[in-house]
Amino acid sequence: MRKVNKYYGTFHALRDVDLDIPPGKVTCLIGPSGSGKSTLLRCLNFLEDYDSGEVRIDDQLIGYETPGGRRMSARRLREMRRDIGMVFQQFNLWPHMTALQNVAEGLERVRGFSRPEAEVRAREALAKVGLADKEANHPSRLSGGQQQRVAIARAIAMQPRIMLFDEPTSALDPELVGEVLGVMKQLASEGMTMVVVTHEMGFAAHVADRVVFMERGEIVAVGSPREVFHDAADPRLQSFLQGYR
Ligand code: ATP
Ligand code: MG
Repeated sequence: MRKVNKYYGTFHALRDVDLDIPPGKVTCLIGPSGSGKSTLLRCLNFLEDYDSGEVRIDDQLIGYETPGGRRMSARRLREMRRDIGMVFQQFNLWPHMTALQNVAEGLERVRGFSRPEAEVRAREALAKVGLADKEANHPSRLSGGQQQRVAIARAIAMQPRIMLFDEPTSALDPELVGEVLGVMKQLASEGMTMVVVTHEMGFAAHVADRVVFMERGEIVAVGSPREVFHDAADPRLQSFLQGYR
């Protein structure tokens, strides 16, 4: 992201955001409620438009035909989003479909696989998140942690180049958080490029390669977990971290 600015009406939600997301690494976004973390994440796949600056994945400009120019067509946006996986706080599974159908659907519709091929790939993805034995369950017959793992399976089955997570564990009961973070940790170890908005400071400290601290729409600190959690002197960061000690 280069000098990205985003307004909601007159409210300045992202201020000159400059951020590099290293490929094959985990970048964790932390910061107080309302600081712009979700907005930043959503600008990466253009679920939110931005008012100035540039967002690029690899070399491709996101959302606009040229910097500051016309918006991409809906078709180009859809193509671009195929390579970007996103997992939300709410799992957004289709309630009337089984776990297997939830994962296979996009493979068939978006990637163009035949139903049998889509199911083979969907089974692989479910196995990866430890849910091989739950493929026939509907979401109502899965725990929150299992539902979120299906959502992750659905995203990774599409073989995205980057995965975006917006507080993927904050809707879960505490005892279910670990299984979802475990799956994310495994993905990270396989070299997936990940951007994770999280309040799980333990995850950020142990799994992130880079931690980005935001406040009031600005990036205030960026660095390794050690640099951000131990060495950073910024008073805003200090006072934010106090809340977790
Ligand atoms: P949280 O930790 O609570 O999820 P966040 O860091 O993700 O917070 P954002 O959701 O990005 O914060 O919101 C940043 C700011 O932009 C907030 O002050 C919010 O009120 C405002 N905002 C977000 N979405 C909209 C919208 N659609 N219209 C107007 N203001 C918005
Ligand atoms: Mg948010």
